[in-house]
Amino acid sequence: MSTQPMWMDPRPCWHCHWFGYLMAENPHGMCLLPTSNAMAVIPRQGCAFWRGEPGASDGGQPEPLESGSPARVAIDRARRRLERIQELAEAEVRRSPLPHGFWPQVGSTEGTVVLSGGRPDHPADRAALEAKVARLGVNAAVRAGKL
Ligand code: SF4
Repeated sequence: MSTQPMWMDPRPCWHCHWFGYLMAENPHGMCLLPTSNAMAVIPRQGCAFWRGEPGASDGGQPEPLESGSPARVAIDRARRRLERIQELAEAEVRRSPLPHGFWPQVGSTEGTVVLSGGRPDHPADRAALEAKVARLGVNAAVRAGKL
């Protein structure tokens, strides 16, 4: 797993874990990262949140999907699911806050929420915070297939 600093060569969305699809009606794409804008504006360039997906770099640019196609509808639904999980996690953490600089984040398209943020030298017990996030009710619901 790696991310793409802004100064590196572009890495296309279709090699990224969060890639949804390319749109047939315009040059944009759909991104599944629920804390980012759903619209991938320049998919061939990716973005700062690019995360390599094992095996994805073996393939070329995928065919764009038409609006209303079953595959596209399913991916749009997946994006809404991840947005919902992210919202629920943030609501839970508002009731029982994390230290400043830490937040819950959907960690993959599978939906489990993980701890994010915090500088390496932050004095907080990161393992304890990770365990707290792992125990969130939203994660229990994801594991149970209810979200
Ligand atoms: S917009 Fe960024 S996070 Fe989303 S698919 Fe493209 S590179 Fe990945």
